[in-house]
Amino acid sequence: MFKIFSAINKTMMNPLRTILILLVFIASCMTEGYSQSADSSKSAKRISVTIDDLPLNIALRVSTEEMKSIVEKLISKIRTEGIPVVGFVNENKLEVNGKLDLQRVNILKTWLDSGIELGNHTYSHKSANGVPVSEYEQDIIQGERTIKNLMADRGMNLRYFRHPFLMTGRSIEVTNEIAEFLHQHNYTIAPVTIDNSEWIFSVAFDKAKRINDTTLMKRIGQEYIGYMKSKIQYFEHQSDKLFMRQINQILLIHSNRLNSEYFNILCTMIKDQGYRFITLDEALKDPAYSSSDTYTGKGGISWLDRWAITQSKTKEFFADEPRTPLYIMQLANVDSE
Ligand SMILES: [Zn+2]
Repeated sequence: MFKIFSAINKTMMNPLRTILILLVFIASCMTEGYSQSADSSKSAKRISVTIDDLPLNIALRVSTEEMKSIVEKLISKIRTEGIPVVGFVNENKLEVNGKLDLQRVNILKTWLDSGIELGNHTYSHKSANGVPVSEYEQDIIQGERTIKNLMADRGMNLRYFRHPFLMTGRSIEVTNEIAEFLHQHNYTIAPVTIDNSEWIFSVAFDKAKRINDTTLMKRIGQEYIGYMKSKIQYFEHQSDKLFMRQINQILLIHSNRLNSEYFNILCTMIKDQGYRFITLDEALKDPAYSSSDTYTGKGGISWLDRWAITQSKTKEFFADEPRTPLYIMQLANVDSE
């Protein structure tokens, strides 16, 4: 580039040549800018977005009309981003008074029609740690009755499963038994690395909406984005410590009113952190996901934490994890994360 500057100085007397060289200079800058952005996309950190509790987290507490309006808003924001998303369904949220509701099924279809792949999140959001294995397996089978057909209609296979509460079983035996069951039913378990308490912000946000406090809703929304940013930075740090590199991350958020308002702002923040959005399939190709995992504790935690616990990391390894602000917890009436 400096060579071009000196050439311009020498040819100042010839305006035509000067213009020509300037054009070459501009073209060179543009090429350089392009190659820089191509390089940065190559080295960008990668993340897959997964959304749980479809069609809507509070489906059992709202009318079908309200559910439709919140879900449509969220889906339109996902479409604007044009990023790959997998959404995990609880089929009991498709029912009204214990019967499958066709309007709700149509709402679920809009996810598929928008290019969002669906996965099984059990029928009624039971915990693998809280019920007998047979009951949990029954909840898995009951959770695929509608979505399997909807996907087959579109030539798609139902292939992903997400454990509710990220709990996989109280013992290695139980965890292995469920994993084998899932494998036999052609499911791939969808882990989460960027786990977070977005659900608490969501409860607080719904409460602010109920009391019609738009100032509070805005405050919670802004707090949510800042909190998620700190969580992402925390798990990047954990990835560095555990793998000496940035693994393909998998983010968990929920289908809720909060994201129907803030999904685009959330995605912009993630992009500003240097991320490129990838499919879940691509994320899982990272060898990190073959790491040994023998965790059977009570908490539903990030797979980064599970791998770290399996490697007997001490308490210091998990220090400085961002917490949900107390006023958000109080608004949501939640005692612990
Ligand atoms: Zn869930």
